[in-house]
Amino acid sequence: MSYASDLIRLKRDGGRLNADQVRGFVMGCTDGSIGEGPAAAMLMAVLFQGLDDEELGVWTEAMIDSGERLQFAEGPPLVDKHSTGGVGDKLSLPLAPALAACGARVPMISGRALGHTGGTLCKLEAIPGFTVEHPVEALNGLLEAAGFFIIAQGPTLVPGDRLFYGLRNATATVESVPLIASSILSKKHAEGLDALVLDVKVGSGSSFQEEAASLALAQRLVSLGRQLGMQTRGVRTAMDQPLGVAVGNALEVREALACLEGGGPPDLRQLTAHLGGVLLHEAGLAEDAAAGEGSILAALDSGAARERFERGVVAQGGDLSGVPTDASVEEWRAPGSGVVGVRDCRLVSHAAAALGGLRDGHGNPPDAAVGVDWLVRIGEEVQAGQVVARLHHRHGRGLERARGFLEEALMLDSGQQALPLVVGEVQE
Ligand code: URA
Repeated sequence: MSYASDLIRLKRDGGRLNADQVRGFVMGCTDGSIGEGPAAAMLMAVLFQGLDDEELGVWTEAMIDSGERLQFAEGPPLVDKHSTGGVGDKLSLPLAPALAACGARVPMISGRALGHTGGTLCKLEAIPGFTVEHPVEALNGLLEAAGFFIIAQGPTLVPGDRLFYGLRNATATVESVPLIASSILSKKHAEGLDALVLDVKVGSGSSFQEEAASLALAQRLVSLGRQLGMQTRGVRTAMDQPLGVAVGNALEVREALACLEGGGPPDLRQLTAHLGGVLLHEAGLAEDAAAGEGSILAALDSGAARERFERGVVAQGGDLSGVPTDASVEEWRAPGSGVVGVRDCRLVSHAAAALGGLRDGHGNPPDAAVGVDWLVRIGEEVQAGQVVARLHHRHGRGLERARGFLEEALMLDSGQQALPLVVGEVQE
């Protein structure tokens, strides 16, 4: 019997791992002395049995210690936002450059698609040439070039999260409070931030549909951030319908560009301003969150944020003129008249996935051009035959299944009330 299997059994049967055991297991996974099989089994044991606060703290610190902690030259405050993941959540794309335009620096380590949620990195990779893997020595230069960068974990940058992230995606172990918390906070801690805001999604398109579980995640995230000595705020935001209209990588890049030009869907603009305002205030760059919000809106409207975005894209090798637009488009219409509800927001993501817009189970990259535009909001009245969604597809691939998901997603006259965009501040 190996040491690793003893620890898996202990956790599987509801036991508690001591600090040496947690650290030994996580370090063993990242240095390769414990293989992916036992690592995946432990993730499943943690999904079922959880980690208490002490176990979670040590687990996260071991993930942080698996790689380097970033160090940047003296300069403006370092801030970041991270979300627990949702449908159509392209918020990082306008937010990071808008913060940079307002005088902050944003060294963002982000993730690829996880479970049903789209990943910021996958969206950015819809920009031809855009590279998310950079050596640690190049990061100061990237930050100087645009005031922000958005990159992936790497062989020396939170490799523990790189390993577990992929394994969780492949083994249905995404929806675990301690695994989400350690994944997010290991990345954010490695960035050496002055202020962090956590965007904890609430509703059917978030990691946890049940209110109690979503609240528990929010509290655990904020308390772990503070336990690790980070200035952390948590905001719970709506994910009962897609954020904005676009769900699909290139579609979302174009929507983010519209937001960066002072337009785009109102919810995307408002949430960018709200979370940006909180961060500017936390970093001492605005008198209060409302003033910070005003600065973010001004950066979007003046073109300053867009200019930063372009600089960042160029610094990371991308060419915005090549974002693909070559998919075919089919309109999907309301089968009857009534007031819109969304049965389960994940169904819209499943529709985009059916068209090839998310990585498949074999790790093949997504088709950047395909996806769904979800054109209606909860509570809006539609007429029979009105266009409710646009399906961007490649030669009809997956269309039938995508239509099926949308039929299931749309409710008419269900009496559903939309969540407020900002549900509330997370109290520990
Ligand atoms: N974002 C992450 O980085 N990790 C998660 O587990 C969820 C969202």
